[in-house]
Amino acid sequence: MCGIVAYVGPKKAYPIVLKGLKRLEYRGYDSAGIAVINESKLEINKCKGKVVKLEDIATDTLKQGNIGIGHTRWATHGQPNDVNAHPHLSNSGDITIVHNGIIENYASIKEQLQIEGYTFESDTDTEVLVNLIDYIYKKDNSTLFEAVRQALNEVVGAYAIVVMHKDKPTKLVAARKGSPLVIGVGEGEYFLGSDASPIIEYTQDVVYLEEEEIVELDLDKGMTLKTIKNENKTPFLQKLELKLEAIEKGGYEHFMLKEIYEQPQSIIDCMRGRMIQSKGVLNMGGLQEYEQTFMNADRLIIVACGTSWHAGLIAEYIFEDLARIPVEVEYASEFRYRNPIITNKDIVLAISQSGETADTMAALELAKESGATVFGICNVVGSSIARITHAGAYTHAGPEIGVASTKA
Ligand code: GLU
Repeated sequence: MCGIVAYVGPKKAYPIVLKGLKRLEYRGYDSAGIAVINESKLEINKCKGKVVKLEDIATDTLKQGNIGIGHTRWATHGQPNDVNAHPHLSNSGDITIVHNGIIENYASIKEQLQIEGYTFESDTDTEVLVNLIDYIYKKDNSTLFEAVRQALNEVVGAYAIVVMHKDKPTKLVAARKGSPLVIGVGEGEYFLGSDASPIIEYTQDVVYLEEEEIVELDLDKGMTLKTIKNENKTPFLQKLELKLEAIEKGGYEHFMLKEIYEQPQSIIDCMRGRMIQSKGVLNMGGLQEYEQTFMNADRLIIVACGTSWHAGLIAEYIFEDLARIPVEVEYASEFRYRNPIITNKDIVLAISQSGETADTMAALELAKESGATVFGICNVVGSSIARITHAGAYTHAGPEIGVASTKA
């Protein structure tokens, strides 16, 4: 869950959004993008990689315009690449969105939209959401606010979103559930940010959006705040008393500490869409095809390095206790160099936050050559380990900047 910035007001949006994205870089991300409306034309510039790259590709039209949204992405659905980067555009070309979070039921919504004739160019859950909004907007001839609100009632998952419509250059619609969003209220202008760091140099007056709230920021009509169930809410305006330095890194002294404190949220995000509490089951897409292989396996070998290896040591206790299958935990560098005994009845499970740990990859290659089924658990979508394994699961734990993988 990375970063969102937005602006509507008399100033040029692009420099504010760009600077805001730079302020949010500390959160970690893999791609970035900005959309601006200028004279009813929507301009979107986005790319894989760093925010500074946006400056190289920024068109003249992007630099004009007084309303804009920006995003830093930590991929959860589809690889980090230019097409999957946000903002995403609806099929009509009218509505654009930035989104942090995960839409759990995106696949079924996508199927429905495909029946209605919608097409998709990215692999993201986000493109499904913007087209759902587009569909409702046109079908019900509703306002943008209502279309977003109704779409969010169909959605299961977590989100912070900001939406704009090409023909409504004075209006932003934003909402949150499970991902933070702050509104900055200036003189005849509004700001939005994942935290206050993109806002603090322009205004001290902020409203923190609460869970399942949706807001319309309109230069003519002001701020309208509701719950997504359509109850009216009164915005609670507060003064920011923090200094910029205190907001960066979320107020923590360093990233590792910040990430340790993120663990409860990381666990929720990891289980999102997988734990079906009402049925008492876990549903893991990556495992389905290999279910029988897992059931018939003689042994599970966990290979990893560093903190991921420590996570493996804990997993050994839990797996043996619950699944009654022998588990061995190996340091990947030892494993790869010591001619281990591996058979086709073994499952070798690799843990790596980055999905690029060289020793762990080499251990997997060796296990694969020996006929084992190899399963990867990593945090970075599209990483090398995710590609070379037979099956796997992403931890969806959000970025880890601290070297110790405290979320593994
Ligand atoms: N699920 C979205 C994607 O994969 C948003 C990821 C994020 O939170 O940055 O594009």
